[in-house]
Amino acid sequence: MTVIKQDDLIESVADALQYISYYHPLDFIKAVNEAYEREQSQAAKDAMAQILINSRLCAEGKRPICQDTGIVTVFVKIGMNVQWGDATMSVADMINEGVRQAYLHPDNVLRASILADPAGARRNTKDNTPAVIHMEVVPGDVLDVTVAAKGGGSENKSKMAMLNPSDSIVDWILKTVPTMGAGWCPPGMLGIGIGGTAEKAAVMAKESLMDPIDIHELRARGPQNRVEELRLEIMDKVNALGIGAQGLGGLTTVLDIKIKDYPTHAASLPVAMIPNCAATRHAHFVLKGDGPAHLTPPKLEDWPQITWDAGPTARRVNLDTVTQADVESWKPGETLLLSGKMLTGRDAAHKRMVEMFSRGESLPDGVDLKGKFIYYVGPVDAVRDEVIGPAGPTTATRMDKFTETILDKTGLLGMIGKAERGQVAIDAIKKHKAVYLMAVGGAAYLVSKAIRNSRIVAFEDLGMEAIHEFVVEDMPVTVAVDVNGTSVHRTGPAEWQARIAEAQPVTVS
Ligand code: SF4
Repeated sequence: MTVIKQDDLIESVADALQYISYYHPLDFIKAVNEAYEREQSQAAKDAMAQILINSRLCAEGKRPICQDTGIVTVFVKIGMNVQWGDATMSVADMINEGVRQAYLHPDNVLRASILADPAGARRNTKDNTPAVIHMEVVPGDVLDVTVAAKGGGSENKSKMAMLNPSDSIVDWILKTVPTMGAGWCPPGMLGIGIGGTAEKAAVMAKESLMDPIDIHELRARGPQNRVEELRLEIMDKVNALGIGAQGLGGLTTVLDIKIKDYPTHAASLPVAMIPNCAATRHAHFVLKGDGPAHLTPPKLEDWPQITWDAGPTARRVNLDTVTQADVESWKPGETLLLSGKMLTGRDAAHKRMVEMFSRGESLPDGVDLKGKFIYYVGPVDAVRDEVIGPAGPTTATRMDKFTETILDKTGLLGMIGKAERGQVAIDAIKKHKAVYLMAVGGAAYLVSKAIRNSRIVAFEDLGMEAIHEFVVEDMPVTVAVDVNGTSVHRTGPAEWQARIAEAQPVTVS
């Protein structure tokens, strides 16, 4: 009989969440580095270099890999011989107390992203609770726990279908992945759940992402069943789509394909697909009644020594003096180094600004967007001597529906975010001769190093979604949609899909 103490579970969950906020799993680093070495698309290679450099900086500085520190997801397997000695809390309450302690840790405060009343007031719970917890009672005398912190950008791209039994799972995946765009910050993994019922398929897809990257071992030894064959087939065919890192076009979109399956009804073929992003974060520990779990920190030597700079052709831009004519001279795919002042704003701030316009109100003092750039970001709070915590871009597509109004009413020159823009935003950008720039999603701590000053100028009640003024120096971005509406997220993948097809048969994974 094993007796688990309440504090041991709380402490173990808190420690594991802190650990995964700044340490990528080493199998992920190794896989991204291999993809980086192999990549022939310069844009995708540059993006992976920034992801790898960011990862090492986070491991050194013990600060979050991404500004989105995730929604906590926990898989708990409770041995049937486990007893809960001194526990006064439920297992879920213990886990949530661990989440609270981790996210409020003063040395490495993590972003509170969880909103209660999701269909209504969407109030921030302020400590990132509650976690999504899956519990199972199994034979044995240990408590087996896997914790993950899943980014919203990648979670939002989850897909589910109830296929006909005769339908092709591979065809559905190949049709669906391009619709996911780059908001899931590839390269990453696809977790796929096949069978069971709708909810069973979704949970299997998520749980499959908790396993380490091992597709190269599978390829080396050869598939031994249908699921293993599918993993290899999907991996090769998805990478042949040419989507590439950050959706910029390239050889590697996925680093591994994970599949779990379960028996299903004769009439059904449920399939769920959940991507895991550049901020892949998960850890596993086992409690045996002898105290809290201790995760061994990785060695910094395990990270590749990669350097990256914007190169001699990068154009330096002073945001305080930039003009419409300057913006019109920027070319799709060009690298810019931004210096000067920009304002920030994401979902809630955009919604509020557009509502103010519809009521005929002006924007608050300090929010003058004319001739300026807005950065779609919800930063992590600063600790110690930081100006701001990790502050990478959020998915721009969510701001598409506000773009025409914001450009029309404010005279904004451009926007900075991650991933592609939808047609409605591209049309607005073209109409107003504006521009959309992208920073690398998942390189948030690296981006924050370019921020020299930060202050909140409006909507303070929105927490991390408040409008900040950032002063930046040499912040690297890429022109992703130019004034003519040309999008590198369309031209890049199209070019690389054709190149890969031409080079066939070629191993792309
Ligand atoms: S890497 Fe991208 S998808 Fe993942 S948490 Fe960060 S911003 Fe979100």
